[in-house]
Amino acid sequence: MFVVKYVILQTITSLHNGHKMENKPSFDALDLVNHNKMMIIWDTGPRCNFDCTYCTDYMHDNHSPHPSLEELLKTADFVNKYYERYKKFHGPGWDKASISFTGGEPTVNPNFWKFVDYMYNNYDENFKLGLTTNGTWHPKHHDKVIKYFKGVTVSYHTEGAQLLKDRCKENLLLLKDDANWITVNVMMHTDNWDECVELIDDFLIPNKINYTPRVIGDSGDYEKGTDWFKDTGGKMRRITHFYEPWKLDWLREHWAKQNQEAKERAVAREKAKVKSTDFKDLSNEDDRTFTDEDKIKALIKNRLATKKETVTDEQQGNVKAESARKLGRMCCGGRTLCTKDRNTNKWDNIKFANSTEFKGWKCMVNWFFLHIEQGRDTVLHHQTCQARFDGTTGPIGKLSESDKILEELDARMAGGKMPVITCPNNLCGCGMCVPKAETPALMQPLWDKYTENLVGEM
Ligand code: SF4
Ligand code: SF4
Repeated sequence: MFVVKYVILQTITSLHNGHKMENKPSFDALDLVNHNKMMIIWDTGPRCNFDCTYCTDYMHDNHSPHPSLEELLKTADFVNKYYERYKKFHGPGWDKASISFTGGEPTVNPNFWKFVDYMYNNYDENFKLGLTTNGTWHPKHHDKVIKYFKGVTVSYHTEGAQLLKDRCKENLLLLKDDANWITVNVMMHTDNWDECVELIDDFLIPNKINYTPRVIGDSGDYEKGTDWFKDTGGKMRRITHFYEPWKLDWLREHWAKQNQEAKERAVAREKAKVKSTDFKDLSNEDDRTFTDEDKIKALIKNRLATKKETVTDEQQGNVKAESARKLGRMCCGGRTLCTKDRNTNKWDNIKFANSTEFKGWKCMVNWFFLHIEQGRDTVLHHQTCQARFDGTTGPIGKLSESDKILEELDARMAGGKMPVITCPNNLCGCGMCVPKAETPALMQPLWDKYTENLVGEM
């Protein structure tokens, strides 16, 4: 699977620091609309049945040993203890944390189904389970997927073998009426663009399956992106794709429409006297459910028209492909965000923010994320951002020394106060949805909204 994969530390650092062009946010604070829960992303190991060229050998392979059931259960115990510490200071309205299993491809581990059965039966008080997958599990596991997982995120990779892609679509069709929530991340492969758009137009939309078009490697350099390079496994990889202007226009149009719809929904809710800041179960999952047949038909018609135009544009030639970094970013999970315009001070619901540059901002990433790398003995606040309390980036500890992580957390929370993370990165990736603000004064109301009996040291 591939959502926002953990990229080798040096690569991230160079990408994050490499760009020069600025693209400052039009807003000075960002909040979630109704998604107040910690998301624990648990990479159960790099073993995968795909070999996507945009995924380095650090992120996946076909030979790493599967973690044993015992190892997985030990990690579960740590995750539970870690979460309990944050939970103690949660303000009102927090949901259970979600644990999303990812990889590699988590379902290829023969211990996986027994393990999730244990998790499902023993940690219900704190966690809801989710699965992030390339969608190619054997259909015989369908009932287990339905039973154990509240949400399933399927990443669709056009580079996969046809047999596996067909299986992925079969599984999606089986899931679409049964699963609590599914969404498909369509990895917008620049060489296989038409296949991606066809999947959206001819399969996902007609079947009313939620989807997010995901550009590949949007942390790439503004100007140069990342061209093919040899990774540590000796293979040629291309983790940032270049997109011709008409492809970027397609993406812009998609997100402009999503932003418009998010605003319209906010207005409708306002009329129904429900504030966007209320912690009611107005999940963004509902936001993205296709209900209106006319809307679906209009969307398909419009997409077909765009496709014709874009082919013409391409045929005209002289189009320069570039990385998609300048576009801005959505939340990887497609959540609705809320931003405070820096000029008007007005909060607006959005799906796509114009910028990802938050260096020096105050951020609650540690309250909303935890990332476990089972196969690499690593624990991070967040997979790609890697922010730590001391302003540096990197892991917060080793899984094999998890007691130390808990002790350090206890020490930070001692005395009813706790440091607030300052963003150390030039670019934000899939931490877009984390509440954040440019200054301590702007951060304070967000802190007060999400915590209780704890002073945030900013
Ligand atoms: S399916 Fe996911 S983990 Fe596997 S190779 Fe592709 S991107 Fe990497
Ligand atoms: S990069 Fe990390 S610390 Fe910076 S804004 Fe994003 S989530 Fe927060």
